[in-house]
Amino acid sequence: MQFNSHFNQVSQSYLFSTIAKKVAAYSAANPDKTILRLGIGDVTLPLAPAVISAMHAAVDEMGAKETFRGYGPEQGYDFLKEAIQGYYAARGVSLERDEIFVSDGAKSDVGNILDIFADGNTVLVPDPVYPVYVDTNVMAGRKVMYMDANEANGFLPMPDYSVDADVIYLCSPNNPTGAAYTVGQLREWVDYANAKGAVILFDAAYECFVSQPGLARSIFEVEGAKTCAIEFCSFSKTAGFTGTRCGYTVVPFALERGGMSANKMWLRRQTTKFNGVAYIVQRGAAAVFGPEGQRQIQANLDYYRANAALIADCMDELGIRYTGGKNSPYIWLKCPGGMDSWKFFDYLLENIQVVGTPGAGFGANGEGFFRLTAFGSREVTAEAVQRLKKLLSR
Ligand code: PLP
Repeated sequence: MQFNSHFNQVSQSYLFSTIAKKVAAYSAANPDKTILRLGIGDVTLPLAPAVISAMHAAVDEMGAKETFRGYGPEQGYDFLKEAIQGYYAARGVSLERDEIFVSDGAKSDVGNILDIFADGNTVLVPDPVYPVYVDTNVMAGRKVMYMDANEANGFLPMPDYSVDADVIYLCSPNNPTGAAYTVGQLREWVDYANAKGAVILFDAAYECFVSQPGLARSIFEVEGAKTCAIEFCSFSKTAGFTGTRCGYTVVPFALERGGMSANKMWLRRQTTKFNGVAYIVQRGAAAVFGPEGQRQIQANLDYYRANAALIADCMDELGIRYTGGKNSPYIWLKCPGGMDSWKFFDYLLENIQVVGTPGAGFGANGEGFFRLTAFGSREVTAEAVQRLKKLLSR
């Protein structure tokens, strides 16, 4: 017996454990100081009332003989898939109901989708990157190539025809950089993928933060994307489902290679290895798309947007360069004074007790950058901004 030796190549992630250790050590030595956390990628506002009442009703259905449900369709109930279809249609994107697969969140599907790709495929990811794209491929023994996301390209790398990649990861609005592609930029990626026969895995987990016209919320806003892209989305940040778990993946019927259909393969994969998302959770997710649900989740998103604006305005005032903050809950800033990411982390912790995430933890190109998030409370965000202004305007 042998275990999968590719696991030996997966780099250990010390990022969040190192942050936790440093913060714990500082707290222990300085019990009188209040620590302000702007490092987390988790939401803090509770589920919307419309979601809660839909889930309560679903719980009651599960408790009555006439309305009880056992196993549901692995790919999701039609009521939720149709609601998602309507959400896309409202943005001018037409999807077939069975191109939509309901999941327990984007992270699972982003990892699991690799089941349908050949082991020999080469993979292209941006640097800095959401680490899941890299680690899931390394676990499967695939070769990972990096493309530079940096200040020069606004952290939005564009296709290079001299590079041959089979599977390309794009995340927009991006974690960690907050940068977001325009529809025109994504068109260039779609043209590249179609020309090369590559497939784009488009992570739209933060699409709900896009408010500026011209920026893409779905890769399927681009004509031709259905022959070269799969899209992952989530209720986590849209509707506070990080602990409730629900997402969806769009696999177009038109995506075929070598006579094989990605949609049919993904359906086969899911029906083999996945037994669907809880009925109660799917009812809650469907309520997000009702008029009440939409109003309530938009109010929550506006709250986070206002936090992001507070941080972005602070950076503007301090003359610190950053991406994100406007169509994203992330503010990716250049560490002032040429400090490296961890040095800046220590500097903020020791002087003003503000905790963020060092960019170096997301890849080599993240060195010298720092991520702050808008998911905290207004009070914490406003206080952190005051402290940042006081410290960094000196
Ligand atoms: N994709 C990106 C880029 C993320 O940042 C996250 C979570 O932070 C996810 C996917 C995971 O989303 P989910 O909670 O739906 O698994």
